[in-house]
Amino acid sequence: MAQDFNPDAHMLTVEEALDVVLRHVVPTPIEEIACWRAAGLPLARDVATDIDLAPFANSAMDGYAVHAEDLLDADVKHPVVLDVVGHEAAGHVFEGAVGTGETVRIMTGAPVPEGLDAVVKYEIVEVLEGDGNEGSRVALRKPASIGENIRAAGLEAHRGEVIMRAGEVVTPAGAGLLANAGAAVVSVHRAPRVGIISLGTELVDASVVPARGQIRDVNAPALMASAIAAGAEPVFYGIAPDDEGRICELVRRAVDECDLVVTSGGASAGDYDYVTALVAREGTVLFDRISMRPGKAVTFGLVNDVPFVGLSGNPAGAFIGFELFVRPAIRKMRGHSDLQRPVQKARVQRDVKKRQDRRFYNRARVERDPAGELVATEAATQNSAMLVDLHRGNCLLVVPDGLRGITAGDEGEVIRYDLPEGTVL
Ligand code: AMP
Ligand code: MG
Repeated sequence: MAQDFNPDAHMLTVEEALDVVLRHVVPTPIEEIACWRAAGLPLARDVATDIDLAPFANSAMDGYAVHAEDLLDADVKHPVVLDVVGHEAAGHVFEGAVGTGETVRIMTGAPVPEGLDAVVKYEIVEVLEGDGNEGSRVALRKPASIGENIRAAGLEAHRGEVIMRAGEVVTPAGAGLLANAGAAVVSVHRAPRVGIISLGTELVDASVVPARGQIRDVNAPALMASAIAAGAEPVFYGIAPDDEGRICELVRRAVDECDLVVTSGGASAGDYDYVTALVAREGTVLFDRISMRPGKAVTFGLVNDVPFVGLSGNPAGAFIGFELFVRPAIRKMRGHSDLQRPVQKARVQRDVKKRQDRRFYNRARVERDPAGELVATEAATQNSAMLVDLHRGNCLLVVPDGLRGITAGDEGEVIRYDLPEGTVL
């Protein structure tokens, strides 16, 4: 019967849709890049160190390298006097033998001479004769323990040991660790090329003042920026008017040259909306709508075996669709395993209402109140044509399926699109 018809029934949930998308994308081919360029990216292969880290026992202090045994009886009243037989700066190696009663002046980072087992810091050594270097005599008034002020060889890792695993995300500090291990270049999954196409006869480039009936293409710049932020290399194929032939031409070029193609516009069921039909004709449609708002009209399929995402034209819908489905896909292509933005619970400051059962992703901003509690304030309008609240906001407030809203003071779930996946909150 007519009143039993539920238009949402054949739609996928966001989770089902994301699952379909992720099942159809694979990591991109591996490339080699400088270790410092890999910061923020997961390694594609394990890295083992080719030397011990540190490669040799070295001094942690400027001071005197000694035999700890020589100082066993040293005390304030009865100093032990040692002969300085050499000196060592970082990068300089003292090759001579050091006998009982002898010491070597040593700088931080210099290799500890063979046979010596402690370093006494410079400040507590009294120079009795000479300038402190070879030929001088020095007095020490305290015993030293074996290993004191010495950084042992292999303390951080031994030669051949894996110091960073495939999948581990390189950090700036990690780039230094990789360099230390001899991995000046490392393997990562290259940035996927993501083709971006804007669809709509009404669209003009940002450099043009639109005539009556025209609007500026805001989706392409927003999606290109989102693609870069997600770790992709965006390629803009231009604006196609609502003409099947012209759209088809651009889509064919894009799938030929890219790892993933994203269009916006032409996605609803309007008279001029061709995207789903085009994907069905040129390839396979895997879904064409999702139970969510904004941006329910998301087409996903394969064209020439290349994943294709057709986002709705409404700027907020396109942006949120990219955030929920395209960004995780790009991250998977780069080898990331963390694909979800951090999610938090926050107290909702104002009543949130919705008129449909489907899940809403409302633009909001979450902040801590003076008591330190997280409070989410929904943007005053949820007009899908506006990006200002996505720009100023930091989260999507999830209004769950089946509920007609969230009452002020209750908790809601927010997705933090301002924070990287894997952030510990
Ligand atoms: P559509 O998906 O083509 O039905 O578009 C939905 C709404 O989004 C319409 O008002 C379009 O004019 C608008 N729109 C589509 N593409 C863009 C774009 N690239 N930039 C700004 N607005 C757009
Ligand atoms: Mg349109």
